[in-house]
Amino acid sequence: MNYKGTVGTKQRNSVGSGQRRQRQQGKARVAWGGNQLTAQPGGASTRVSGALHTPATTNTPHYPVIMSETDGAVEVVPVPVSEAAQPQTKKRRASENGLHALHKNGSADKDKNVDDSYFASYSDIELHRTMIEDSVRTNAYQQAIFQNMEEHIRNKVVVDVGCGTGILSMFCAQAGAKKVYAIDASKIAVHAKQLIEANGYSDIITVLQGKAEEVELPEKVDVIVSEWMGYMLLYETMLPSVLYVRDKWLKPGGKMYPERAVLHMALGEAQWITKYEEGTYDFWVSLNHVYNLDMSLLADHAVARYKDVVHVHMVAQEDVLSFPTSICDLDLTTITPEDLRTISRPFSLYSMGSRQLNSIVLWFDVWFPGGLKLSTSPDNEDTHWQNTVLPLATVPLQQDTKVEGELTITQDLTNHRFLNVDLTYRVDKGEEVTRCFKMDDNCNDNDF
Ligand code: SAH
Repeated sequence: MNYKGTVGTKQRNSVGSGQRRQRQQGKARVAWGGNQLTAQPGGASTRVSGALHTPATTNTPHYPVIMSETDGAVEVVPVPVSEAAQPQTKKRRASENGLHALHKNGSADKDKNVDDSYFASYSDIELHRTMIEDSVRTNAYQQAIFQNMEEHIRNKVVVDVGCGTGILSMFCAQAGAKKVYAIDASKIAVHAKQLIEANGYSDIITVLQGKAEEVELPEKVDVIVSEWMGYMLLYETMLPSVLYVRDKWLKPGGKMYPERAVLHMALGEAQWITKYEEGTYDFWVSLNHVYNLDMSLLADHAVARYKDVVHVHMVAQEDVLSFPTSICDLDLTTITPEDLRTISRPFSLYSMGSRQLNSIVLWFDVWFPGGLKLSTSPDNEDTHWQNTVLPLATVPLQQDTKVEGELTITQDLTNHRFLNVDLTYRVDKGEEVTRCFKMDDNCNDNDF
């Protein structure tokens, strides 16, 4: 997954994507920032009966699970058009989504607004296309499920946390699962239900439209499958929902797909940052010749703004200037949501060759049972997650120059889906520098 407004409907054409190779993915995933839903308690989208849901009461806002009275299977009822999230054709900023409501409301309302926007963004089919089109991602899940089908999937009970279109649930059904519970709080669940029917898997897969934390299952499960990873692994903060399901519904010794996640960082010289800087100075200075006005002051502001935000962008392999170090190595069978609130790791990195340091580059890998790895490294094929880049002031490095410091990632208190990324570092024996980045829905420079 990965959320991310509609990030990336237009591509920045100047900068480095595709310098190394053609970008595979047209756009990055989620910047949810979607419409604020006027969510109604009980959900007009909800009709409830049967055993798999928490019974609705008049004043309890329940997830919209629907069960048909006839066969006890869960059924999702399409919501009226007026309620559905509008497709996100351009990225929406925080001020346009739930955030401005936050000042008026308490924290529960605040989180609800954030989540409503988040789930609304996932009702956009284009977003699901972006993910499924990412063949590195989708093939990894398919292969992991099929490689282990005899041992882990056949005749087993699976829950797919955040099923989206239901694609991973259907892989599990193809691999012989006895039962799959496919959960999604977004209205994409309506389509998942239709797709599952159309593919003849309705007997095996039950779609539950609702928050994973609220859905009641009739039994414990053998396997959790979930594609929860956001930009820089943790953006979007979906992992705690998966862990909640693990603790509530996974049988002892049950399997997690994926089961391990590692976030890496390395020194970088992102060529597209240099090009942006040069192009920006050239533009603002050139106005002097055209209009006989000195507009060059704005170049500094433009560059400062560019360097102030987290960028989600492909980084060429040759622009990674050091071996990576890991910022966290998460065992998904044991890690707790509390462990994820703050992740902090000191680092020492040594440059390879004489280059210009202008960024920290981050990426992640996840592993499935049996050892299959899904990697978003600059060394690998592009994925829709791209790489995450923290721009720094440019500093020349020699071979083996040491860059040391500490990187801290914390969940943002205002919007629990956002992250704060704090970096302190020192190049060689120079001054310590502190940079504080917020990873919010402005973080994608494809849509700057
Ligand atoms: N599994 C699909 C979609 C992954 S995107 C695929 O691989 O293509 C992540 C999905 O998780 C989104 O559709 C989002 O709506 C859903 N999701 C995120 N957090 C959730 C939660 N707490 N409860 C239910 N669904 C959630």
